[in-house]
Amino acid sequence: MAQGAGKYDPQLVHALADAGAKCGVLMVLNGNHGSGFAVQATVQQLLHLPGILRSMADSIEADTVETEKKEPGWTQPICADCFQETYGGEPVRVSSPHPECCCLCGDDTSDGIYIRIDPRTVAFPRSE
Ligand SMILES: [Zn+2]
Repeated sequence: MAQGAGKYDPQLVHALADAGAKCGVLMVLNGNHGSGFAVQATVQQLLHLPGILRSMADSIEADTVETEKKEPGWTQPICADCFQETYGGEPVRVSSPHPECCCLCGDDTSDGIYIRIDPRTVAFPRSE
């Protein structure tokens, strides 16, 4: 970890003063000076930091995975018959399709055709 003044140290000093704290971590993503972080802590407090960050990362990852499972994506498989009926023309197909369930009719399809559609508007949304 870098020693000395970092690009977000002034903001961290302000945040600690506002919170009435003596130690803390400020992480900035895509800020005015790019992404970075600032840490103000004693060596003893620093020893706890990896555990806290690990636990935070696990929690974020668990929440993210759960959200992805709950909400089907907008890329949905569609069979060639439904595509013809709904859109007409020649669809773009993936090169190595694997069996999926057509989002409109529910039949098994290996046609390798996908459409961008609100999953809430189809009868058989694929959850990703
Ligand atoms: Zn279909």
